Amino acid sequence: MANATAENTASATGQCLCGAVQVEIGIPARWAWHDHSGPTRRAHGAAYATYVGSWRSRFRVTKGRTKITRFHDKATGTTRGFCALCGTPVTYERAHSPQMVNVPRALFSGRTGREPRYHIAIAELQDWTYLGEPLVPLKGYPGVVWERPAKKKRRQVIRGQRPGYPAPDDHDE
Ligand SMILES: [Zn+2]
Repeated sequence: MANATAENTASATGQCLCGAVQVEIGIPARWAWHDHSGPTRRAHGAAYATYVGSWRSRFRVTKGRTKITRFHDKATGTTRGFCALCGTPVTYERAHSPQMVNVPRALFSGRTGREPRYHIAIAELQDWTYLGEPLVPLKGYPGVVWERPAKKKRRQVIRGQRPGYPAPDDHDE
């Protein structure tokens, strides 16, 4: 176990793709979660995003404050900050929890003191999301692995999807 006093004064540093923006949070973060909602999916251009939530008082932009551009989504009452140079999402703020600043977990290379054990909008999980299916090397393409089509339906039924509805390329033999 880490020393509690050291944890209370420790921090984690994250940065955007180009490095123009750097942020810092006190660790351990308040909490961490996976967000499968449509707005987050589009904002990240990814299947889902994982966030760490920090108390605003423990969050700092340590570099590039003027490089952050913001998008306020009136429909959801949220504000997302992006690096204006490289487009990396760096902050996600929600009107109903103004004391928190949420930061994409991927910005941090080190530990944040919280495991992402929570899911938001799991019913919107996309059927193309990788869920840890077994992978094998793709012959002739070094470094590429793929999910070999299974004889039986390989995906579990997920809330929000039709039960027993296989993907178009998911053939039974
Ligand atoms: Zn950047």
